[in-house]
Amino acid sequence: MTKRIFRSICVVAIVVFLSAVVLIMGVLYNYFSNVQMRQLKMQTTLAAQGANNTGTEFIKNIDTQDYRVTWIDADGMVLYDSETESSEMENHGERNEIAEALESGYGESIRHSDTLMENQLYSAMRLDDGTVIRLSIAQSTVINLLMGMIQPILIVFVVAVVLSLVLASRLSKKIVKPLNELNLDEPLSNEGYDELSPLLRRIDSQQRELKAQRAELIHKQEEFDTVTKSMNEGLVLLNNKGIIISINSAARMILDTDKSCIGSDILLVNRSMKIQELIQKASEGSKSEGIVEIEERVYQFDVSPVYSEDSISGAVLLIFDVTERENAEEMRREFTANVSHELKTPLHSISGYAELMKNRMVKPEDLGLFSEKIYFEAQRMICLIEDIIRLSRLDEGAEDMKREQVELLSLAEKVSDELEGHAVNAGVKLVVSGEPVVFTGVSQQISGIIYNLCDNAIKYNREGGSVNINVGSDGNNAVLTVKDTGIGISPEHQNRIFERFYRVDKSHSKEVGGTGLGLSIVKHAAKLHNAEIKLHSVVGEGTEITVKFPK
Ligand code: ADP
Repeated sequence: MTKRIFRSICVVAIVVFLSAVVLIMGVLYNYFSNVQMRQLKMQTTLAAQGANNTGTEFIKNIDTQDYRVTWIDADGMVLYDSETESSEMENHGERNEIAEALESGYGESIRHSDTLMENQLYSAMRLDDGTVIRLSIAQSTVINLLMGMIQPILIVFVVAVVLSLVLASRLSKKIVKPLNELNLDEPLSNEGYDELSPLLRRIDSQQRELKAQRAELIHKQEEFDTVTKSMNEGLVLLNNKGIIISINSAARMILDTDKSCIGSDILLVNRSMKIQELIQKASEGSKSEGIVEIEERVYQFDVSPVYSEDSISGAVLLIFDVTERENAEEMRREFTANVSHELKTPLHSISGYAELMKNRMVKPEDLGLFSEKIYFEAQRMICLIEDIIRLSRLDEGAEDMKREQVELLSLAEKVSDELEGHAVNAGVKLVVSGEPVVFTGVSQQISGIIYNLCDNAIKYNREGGSVNINVGSDGNNAVLTVKDTGIGISPEHQNRIFERFYRVDKSHSKEVGGTGLGLSIVKHAAKLHNAEIKLHSVVGEGTEITVKFPK
């Protein structure tokens, strides 16, 4: 801006100067023309007086210098010319100045000579003898005039240019200074040019508007951040080029990235083909979902297009952790297959024995044995179905189960009494020890835990072995320990025996009437009470299972 003002001032100064020079030259030229003409007239008058007094010879002797002297008779014939041979000259009677002089005694005119590119001044006077004397002189042209004055003009020009440069520089800086010093943060506090007031008021109102919009934006962003931060689901916003615009903490954790991924392509964060496919579909305008496995966990990705006005401006990715749901479904599928299989085996046996009996292929003395086998298999089925029912009840949840004050030692003694006969048959000694502990729980489920643990301790024991049930307390927990002197469990099975239908030795389990569900029931019932289970077992020595119920 300073430069522009500077340049404008300089141009104006130069234009004004040149215009002044042209104007002055015009006036001067006019003035000098008049002076020249007056001088010419005076010279002509003097020459005419000389010629009248001393005779026409006088004319030929005039020292012409810059003048041209011509003598013409009353008919216009040139009698003498100081520059050209008179005989070669044409008749001059028609020339304005001559005609006027012949008529009124004096005439003058100005004519332009194209060949000489200059004006010629003519002044003619009639002599006493009727002839005419004419003096002419070339009029100085403007260029001549200018050339004569060029030196002072140039000096004035240089001085004017230097002055205008200095002034223009100072002026432009002075004009721009208040503009440079404007405080745009507080536009209304400025005292500069009045002309700027409307602009400053406008800037002030726009600034206030901008501040309000910014505050609102920040507020909305904070709200958005607070909401997305507390979400368990991952949330990622992409623009239409697949660039991450926003990603919440849950999504960062799932995709194993940090905030620096904002601004980069989603491909750099995860290269899964499935995710790319879903994003592609969203960019075509359709909502889609898919399951993606990341680091042994299963996630459901819901990808939807985001519209702004009529076009798709990006996509929003919602990520749900469905590992538990998928595992539960897998477990249910496995469980159904296992149950069918477990039920089929005894049913096949029952059907086989019954068929033999129906076809009278069993000797009468063997009928008792066959009936016993059918009874045994049926009992196994009943046990299995009872265990399945127990498990499914536990699966359904504990909301409707009645919680009450439970005394663990008396429950253990009751279960021990129930299993006494069983223990005697197996040749195992059952001992209950400890002190009474009371806590809140579902008595039926706790009995189930004690029953299954003791039942296993008897089943997988050896003849002459023992089972010790101990009840006690360790600060905040009621502790139940069932220790046997049985076959033990090798370390590779110890983690798996709580799975449904998992048995270390399938045939042995079946032989002793196991269903493979006992410890699953224990695990579930313990979970219901937030109880912790610990297993310690040595093959050939025995097993000790401890359950700690928080009081
Ligand atoms: P089951 O009905 O077959 O006993 P459980 O779920 O109760 O089913 O037990 C799973 C498996 O764990 C059993 O088949 C058995 O191999 C092993 N097991 C459970 N308790 C004991 C124990 N006290 N001693 C040795 N092995 C055991």
